[in-house]
Amino acid sequence: MSSRTDTLRLLILDDNEMTGQTLQRIAEREGFDVRFSTVPQQFFQWLDEWNPDHIALDLVMPEMDGVQVLAELAQRNCRACIIITSGVGGRILEAAGRSAAEHGLRLTGVLQKPFTPAEFRSLLFGSEGSPSPVSAPARQATLPVSAADLAAGLQRKELFVVYQPKVDCRTGSLVGFEALARWRHPHAGLVPPDRFIPLAETHDLIDELTEYVMAEALHWFAQVRQQIQANNTGCTPQSIRLSVNISARSLENSALFERIEQCCNNHELTPEHLVLELTETSAMQDPVASLDILTRLRMKGFHLSIDDFGTGYSSMVQLVRLPFSEIKLDKSFVMTARRSQESRTVIKSIVDLGRSLGLKCTAEGIEDNDTLNYLRDIGCDAAQGYLIARPLMAEHATQWALECMRQSESRRLLDLHNLHLLDTPPEQRFDRLTKLAQRVFNVPIVLVVLLDEHRQWFKSNLGLTMRETPRHMAFCTHTINYQDILLVPDTLKDPRFQHNPLVTGEPHIRFYAGCPLRVANGNAVGTLCLIDRKPGALNTEDQDLLRDMAHLAEKELQADIQAITDSLTSLLNRRGFESRATDTLQLSIRLRHSAALLFIDLDQFKSINDNHGHAMGDDALRKFADMLRQVFRESDLIARFGGDEFVLLMSNADKQQALDATTRLRQAIADLNRQSSFPFSLTYSIGWASLDPDNPQDLQALLAEADSNMYSNRNQSHGRAT
Ligand code: C2E
Ligand code: CA
Ligand code: CA
Repeated sequence: MSSRTDTLRLLILDDNEMTGQTLQRIAEREGFDVRFSTVPQQFFQWLDEWNPDHIALDLVMPEMDGVQVLAELAQRNCRACIIITSGVGGRILEAAGRSAAEHGLRLTGVLQKPFTPAEFRSLLFGSEGSPSPVSAPARQATLPVSAADLAAGLQRKELFVVYQPKVDCRTGSLVGFEALARWRHPHAGLVPPDRFIPLAETHDLIDELTEYVMAEALHWFAQVRQQIQANNTGCTPQSIRLSVNISARSLENSALFERIEQCCNNHELTPEHLVLELTETSAMQDPVASLDILTRLRMKGFHLSIDDFGTGYSSMVQLVRLPFSEIKLDKSFVMTARRSQESRTVIKSIVDLGRSLGLKCTAEGIEDNDTLNYLRDIGCDAAQGYLIARPLMAEHATQWALECMRQSESRRLLDLHNLHLLDTPPEQRFDRLTKLAQRVFNVPIVLVVLLDEHRQWFKSNLGLTMRETPRHMAFCTHTINYQDILLVPDTLKDPRFQHNPLVTGEPHIRFYAGCPLRVANGNAVGTLCLIDRKPGALNTEDQDLLRDMAHLAEKELQADIQAITDSLTSLLNRRGFESRATDTLQLSIRLRHSAALLFIDLDQFKSINDNHGHAMGDDALRKFADMLRQVFRESDLIARFGGDEFVLLMSNADKQQALDATTRLRQAIADLNRQSSFPFSLTYSIGWASLDPDNPQDLQALLAEADSNMYSNRNQSHGRAT
């Protein structure tokens, strides 16, 4: 590459020597560096080695057809400006041009043979190369088509499906594809769906068309999933879904949905993998009937999306009434978001509405980065549009999916490694959470898992002795691809896990519930998971709790340890304590657990420093801290609040348990004083306050109460702990 001059390069593929040489001469006269091949093999070799700026491509060749060459170019991410040459009819050229554009190639134009040198020159210089699918040379068919044509086209399999990727707004990871129908009419060229879908709807061909699209798309989708699995991109295809457009007119046809379900079964897919996109039309105006039908579909497991939201008939009333799982923001707002404040206002209110109704929101028609960033900032879930990818031909879409997954996985791993937590020793801040979860959910095993290239590694492994397993066994591999909690009520009944070595052997997992742990940018680095050796369940309230606990674990993952720990004792410092205690109290209130806050002050510590030196004072503080760690439970928060002040929060502890703890503390300090070689005795004052979940106080109030109790205790007993 470094040896490149400024001379523009043209690479020609044409099976006709004469045509090729003519093109070559014209271009060379214009100062181009030109190579010309009659066979695709040589052409592709040069493409790779020589990196041309322009390509002239004959569409009809004996060895390989031009459309195949285009697909291949797209797969190699070719950025050259492409001129298509051919002697075939204009409409086929148009179709090919459209296909090139859909592949995301830069198509300059079409050169119809015979051509004049001027025509060729104008293409060489005239255009930058436009990636638009409706760029002039590839304009869509305008000949009229009839319903009879469409019926025949369905029979002759002239229709095909293209796939437009849908990605997570925050992480850019693949969440699915939308199947979009195309019709390559033999004479009229490529007919856009906006022309043939209404035709199908009014001539009773729509169900046939839907079934046609569904069959082709599900077949493709099943293959993609297999390839993702086989390609070892580090990801499982669990969470990606296929969206298919369903005309409202089809809703009444329950036989159609039975056949769709059957078609899913044939490909080992479930309705869960499908999103049915419905546009509100007048046909859906029988509210009772559509509610029935949609509810039944949702109960079968299909996800339902309300398409083109914000336009036409779709309204808030429909949304609240009908069992949709997704809103699809209409592209008319999205495409104008950058320049129109009004559009942004509409978008924002739709996203907010979706969130408040618990619906996922997808924006389609995203064409620029500003719009994508805006959508991400306001909390839109998924993104679709030319900026991410155009609708792609099947093979190209498959390649796109694999590449997207590879890239997401490397971004994820980068985030994981940046935490610098892998292979570090166990830490109380994580063990505290697993302990808490163990008590709340009453399961024997709770893990904080991090998933790296080759293994799952446990930052906290309560109830388990192993510290890691190979990645292919990890349930976590599945979980991190889920937007939400992965629940496996009984592993023996789940084909994904029933033969897993962790199920058939130690630790004999029967029940699993895992929640992804994400870092700030949304990438999942691991999971918080609950495991039992017998089948189990988790109701929605418990799922909310697990999610909340996962948030606490996420905070720990990203915490700046230096900033929240006391360097002398390695206990939490005041700041670290306050944030964690606030979360813990909130959790306690939700769980209706009581909690106790203890305030401890060492007596006359200043005189120890003054009389025995700071080194000895520090040593005493460290020993005292170690003693606290032994006396209190793993799930308690222990902090050095300031110089000689310590604070503890015992979660799920009633008054008796708090009193018991003070007794244990009194014994422990007596032992410490006996065993240590200090030339002084440590004494302390203590006060405590307890949280009443029915009438909860906040952290500051509890601290104030414990502090004042401590003072009154001290005044009563002069340093004797009570
Ligand atoms: P739709 O469901 O709203 O599909 C999205 C349309 O927006 C697609 O047009 C897609 O190519 C286009 N699009 C996606 N991203 C962008 C972008 O960034 N910029 C712009 N300008 N356009 C973008 P397409 O494929 O022409 O489909 C048009 C409509 O035809 C679809 O609108 C859908 O309502 C209907 N349709 C397509 N395939 C089917 C099908 O199989 N069944 C049914 N019932 N309707 C279909
Ligand atoms: Ca759609
Ligand atoms: Ca739409």
